[in-house]
Amino acid sequence: MLECKNCKSVKVVKSGKARGKQRYKCKECGYNFVIGDGRTNEKIQALKALCVLLYSLGKGSYNMMGKLFRRDRSLIYKWIREAGLNAAEPSIDGEITQIEFDEMWHYIQSKKRNFGSSKPLTAAAGELSPGFSVVVIAQHSDDSTTR
Ligand SMILES: [Zn+2]
Repeated sequence: MLECKNCKSVKVVKSGKARGKQRYKCKECGYNFVIGDGRTNEKIQALKALCVLLYSLGKGSYNMMGKLFRRDRSLIYKWIREAGLNAAEPSIDGEITQIEFDEMWHYIQSKKRNFGSSKPLTAAAGELSPGFSVVVIAQHSDDSTTR
């Protein structure tokens, strides 16, 4: 399962942390590496998946998601459109299961608090692909679409 990215040896040991992630060192060749490279990309992938999920459930407009994730609404639109164009692909890359949701989860949680608790919350659960489940709790906002 866990193998050196350089020489594919399985003789790897934990070697401290790098940018908050577990770092590993290969005992065979001495190569240091972190599981799940391209972390920015992973985060964007997760964000995209969330947007697509919210949108497909009719719980999020481009505006609302743009505000929620602090992204431009045109970018959200682009992601949704992209997802539509790529919809023919039956599966998501296996690496996506390694995404760390902690950060995003806390972010949404804190958002929720900012808005206060007088408005109803929407909880949406979905499975985007086998092994990749998502639970979303979102505040209804004035410009969210309802279907
Ligand atoms: Zn190695």
